[in-house]
Parts: sequence; C-alpha cells; structure tokens
Amino acid sequence: MLVRVDFNVPLDDQGKVADDTRIKATLTTIRYLLEQGARVILISHLGRPKGKVVEKLRLDDVARRLGELLGREIKKVNDCIGPEAAKAAEELKEGEVLLLENLRFHPEEEKNDPGFAKELASFAEVYINDAFGTAHRAHASTAGVADYLPAAAGFLMEKEIKALGSILSDPDRPFLAVLGGAKVADKIGVLKSLVGKVDAILLGGGMANTFLKAKGSELGDSLVDDQNLEFARKFLDMAAERGVRVELPVDLVIASGDQDPVQVVDSGSVPSGWRALDIGPRTADLYAQLIKEAKTAFWNGPMGVFEEDQFAHGSEMVARALSEEGLISVVGGGDSLAVLEKYGLGGQVTHASTGGGASLEFLEGRELPGVAVLMK
Ligand code: ADP
Ligand code: MG
Repeated sequence: MLVRVDFNVPLDDQGKVADDTRIKATLTTIRYLLEQGARVILISHLGRPKGKVVEKLRLDDVARRLGELLGREIKKVNDCIGPEAAKAAEELKEGEVLLLENLRFHPEEEKNDPGFAKELASFAEVYINDAFGTAHRAHASTAGVADYLPAAAGFLMEKEIKALGSILSDPDRPFLAVLGGAKVADKIGVLKSLVGKVDAILLGGGMANTFLKAKGSELGDSLVDDQNLEFARKFLDMAAERGVRVELPVDLVIASGDQDPVQVVDSGSVPSGWRALDIGPRTADLYAQLIKEAKTAFWNGPMGVFEEDQFAHGSEMVARALSEEGLISVVGGGDSLAVLEKYGLGGQVTHASTGGGASLEFLEGRELPGVAVLMK
C-alpha cells in the first residue's frame, strides 16, 4: 500500500516535531492497514524545500515520533524515489512500515510529473490518500499516482469529507458561520459560498475591521484591508437580499503603539494611533449566545490577536461556545485550531479539520484534485 499522509508538522528550533496532531490524526488508517497485514509505505511532504534537499526538513524525527505512537519500528530511507527507496520497498514485509523521505525534495512532486508519480506507484499495488490537508493541490503524490494505481480514501480523508460535506449539503438549522482572521482577501471565496448556505454570519478579527470601515466607522490604525472595502459593501447588500443576518462587533478591544493600557470602545470610535485587536466583551457575549442558539456552526479565523492573552478573550468565548453539547461545530484553519488547543478544547468540537487551506477550498465548493481522483 502506498499511503499519502500529511506529516507536514510544525518543527521546533532543533528540527524536532513540535506538534504531533497531524501524525496522530492518521494513526487510525495506518493501524487498520497493519492489522490487515498490509505492507505500509508512507509518503509525505514537510515544509517548503522547493525541490531541493534541505537537511532540516528530513522526516527522521517524524519517523521517530510515529514509531513511539505506533509502538513499532518504522523503516526510513533518505530519498522517496531511486534505488534505496525501491530496495526498501521491495524488502518490506507484511505488517511493516516504511517511511520514504520528504517528497518535496524533488521538484517533480509539485509539478505533478508523470514519471515521478509512476516511480512512486511502482512501489505498491494500491494507493491510499489520507492527506486531506494537501488535497487541494494537484501534485504527483496527491493526484498523479492515481493514474497508475487503484486509489481509495483513508479514514481521515473520509472523515473530513463527511464532516465538511454534511454542513454544506444538509445542515441542521439555524446554521451560522463565525469568520475572523487577519485579512478579508484570504476569505472572499468562503464568504461568497457560505452566504448561500447559512442563516447568519458573525464577523470578528481583522476581517470585521474592514467591514466596519466599509460601513463608515473610524478604525484608527487598525488592520484594514482597504482593497476590499467595496467587496465588503457589496457582500453586506448581497447578504441582506438573501435574508442572511451579518453581525459585526458592537465593541472592540484597542491598544496604542506605546505603553498605554488596552481599552474597550464602541465600534466606530477607534482613535487615530490606536488599533482594534479583539472583539469587545459585549460582542463576545452576543456571539457566544448566538452560537448556543444555533444547531450547526462553522468557525474559521480568530476574533483577535489571540497569540497575546489580552486580545484572546473574544476567540476564547467563541471556542467555548462551540465546544458545548447540542451543537454540530466544525472548525477549520491552523490558527483557529491553535485557539482550541490554547484552551484545551481540541477534542470538544464535533470536527476540527486538519486541512486549513483544503477545508476552506472545500467549503468554497471547489473541486479538490486529491479528492477528485479518489471519486473516479
Ligand atoms: P486561520 O489560520 O484559522 O485560518 P487566519 O490565518 O486567517 O486564521 O488568521 C489568524 C491571524 O489573524 C492571527 O495571527 C491573528 O493574530 C490575526 N488577527 C486576528 N484579528 C486581528 C486583528 N484585529 N488585527 C490584526 N491581526 C488579527
Ligand atoms: Mg492562519
């Protein structure tokens, strides 16, 4: 079995695995295949080596951590194609695991080169893709190999598609979306798609600043996406026409560049020299209440600069409300997941998507190349 996994984990200064969430997320698939007596050949990328060998981006420490989690030896080679990889694949026995080297050490991976895909495919009889986080890329290991081997989805891939698919196709209502993060530009596609599906959209973070400014508020020195003020105005009109409620912050937590203490002000009155860095406490209470009244909620993008505790309250309130029972809650985005982790809520939501960009593209209604080849 050639199994594409997403071992693109954060590394610490020493190049060691700093967060093993993505490794753990694919254990169900790996364990199942081993129980079935498969020869498991794992392939993944890590970071952005841009087609060259980057020593720090080797998968050795990933292999070590995977071995600990599985409680068995992981064979590891220093290339993903070539004679060493071929020999290791050839010698692999049933019930054994081989991890090949970082796929992106070869430029052919991201170019979806057919020769490269064919060589990967030559190591196995069946291809399994469990790397939802990379499914929005048409690369050799996510799309090309399926031309040479029968292909199927792993359990993580299946879970992601089911969770994200169900909120799009048949959500329990009210269905609301909570959207934040730094920039509107990153989220235009998902805003446009979700406005056709949800009953309400709650906006926070830098995203909300842009919408507030579009409605005529003063935002001082806050992060505002000036290129998208016109989009924001049109979007609000479109939502109103469809009867979709759009909530903007009623108050904001602001700070100035120097040592002045942070303050809470009404939206619309951020003095010059000050920046809005979180939704205010009244907004946080309102959003938490609306989330609790919903049956389905999707969240992407923190409500403020949650990395600093004094600007994390809005994101914490949203994360806690989403974690309560009686609600189908789906969370996507690396930083949004980091908020859940920060408050120990990772396991409390219905589905925390491992695929940041992939989950957004899925919700935009776009076809993901890595999913499309599995459907054929
Ligand atoms: P995700 O990774 O969940 O998709 P994003 O990457 O879109 O989320 O946004 C997260 C980033 O947005 C965080 O680094 C956070 O500090 C930043 N952010 C949120 N609100 C603001 C704000 N008001 N001003 C500046 N940056 C913000
Ligand atoms: Mg992010």
